[in-house]
Amino acid sequence: ARDERMQDVVQSGTTIATSALGHSVHVEVQGLEPARWYWYRFRFSSEVSTVGRTRTLPEQGIRVDRLRFAFASCQHFEQGYFTAYKHMAEDDLDLVFHLGDYIYEYAGRDGRVRRHVGDEIEVIDDYRNRYALYRSDLDLQAAHAAFPWVVTWDDHEVDNNYAADISEDELPSELFLRRRAAAYQAYYEHMPLRRRSLPIGANLELYRGFAWGDLASCFVLDTRQYRTNQPCGDGRVSVCDGTYDPAATLLGPEQERWLTTGLDQSETMWNVIPQQVQMTRVDWTTGDEESYGMDVWSGYEVARRRLMEFLATRRPNNPIVLTGDIHSNWVGDLKVDYQDSDGPIVGTEFIGTSISSGGDGSNSRDGVDAMLADNPWVKFFNAQRGYVRCDINRREYVSDYRVVDFVTRPGSPISNLASFVVENGRPGAYRR
Ligand code: FE
Ligand code: CA
Repeated sequence: ARDERMQDVVQSGTTIATSALGHSVHVEVQGLEPARWYWYRFRFSSEVSTVGRTRTLPEQGIRVDRLRFAFASCQHFEQGYFTAYKHMAEDDLDLVFHLGDYIYEYAGRDGRVRRHVGDEIEVIDDYRNRYALYRSDLDLQAAHAAFPWVVTWDDHEVDNNYAADISEDELPSELFLRRRAAAYQAYYEHMPLRRRSLPIGANLELYRGFAWGDLASCFVLDTRQYRTNQPCGDGRVSVCDGTYDPAATLLGPEQERWLTTGLDQSETMWNVIPQQVQMTRVDWTTGDEESYGMDVWSGYEVARRRLMEFLATRRPNNPIVLTGDIHSNWVGDLKVDYQDSDGPIVGTEFIGTSISSGGDGSNSRDGVDAMLADNPWVKFFNAQRGYVRCDINRREYVSDYRVVDFVTRPGSPISNLASFVVENGRPGAYRR
């Protein structure tokens, strides 16, 4: 319908929810007008759903002056309330990106804010029930009802720190792929994905792109399904030979080619890359010794450099990377070589904190300044909870770091902790 009271209905139809797809439906409506809001609902027997709102894309290539969206990640149900979504639902946005850890696979534990049902999830019914539990959250429902969502996953939709067919516990690959197939299917069923994302066995092609008129192209990445195993263990450790393995990859060759080809052909003013894991290289050990995250881009140094060198030499317009995973807020310069202080900044990474994972979080500065001293390309760090709200126009890209005071009780207010700006044509963010 063109109106939220569902009076001006433009299309209606019938679809079948089968048990094979967990009684989910994926309706693709054709022939809508571009760049406008629509409202929708479902009816089954005498039951009528609440009304949801969504928005169509602007026509390809047409001049567009503005895009507003939020991005979020990491919503551990047991560790806190999803209050940030209640506030997000009241924002004026065109869409929402979710960057992964929509669910967590872990067993229920007592003594937390809320409780997962059952043991660690491994089979299809468990994954379905976990999504149903998370979707029972009214704040999450409100954010889904308010905007179209563009989703991608990280590890916890399947298993902590998995890499392609390698599980956390390094089970035999056939066994883990059976689990991955169940997890991917439940993800497809519960997420707003098109039929082109229907999983085939343990494979689901999730990376995809779209353009917002002539203003922004978005390249949504999947850094889990095709990656090689983490080197030197999965932790934050000193580099080992594996860190420099030329065959190591986070994207896999096909997705990497798709991304670089797409960036090369992109004619939009901004190129936004929503993905999962930290791309800015960060040394976590203060002082002369160094340690790097091995589950993130710094563990795959040759692949990281290859992408940064592509940005430096092919120079697509204004690359902006959006990241989740580490339950903290960051702004960082993307560079080929972080030892070369004169080397060019090739893009900016905005990392958004968790919705609830890790509990209340903190705005403590303990240790932060020492960490920043070893990583001068990091412009901002904070470990409260919330989401990032972005506003793009033809002049600048603004990221607002929205934080809640607490998540272990409901009802926190939200505030704007900081805003960072990237000007069109000038790489590197500064605080406003
Ligand atoms: Fe997480
Ligand atoms: Ca150091």
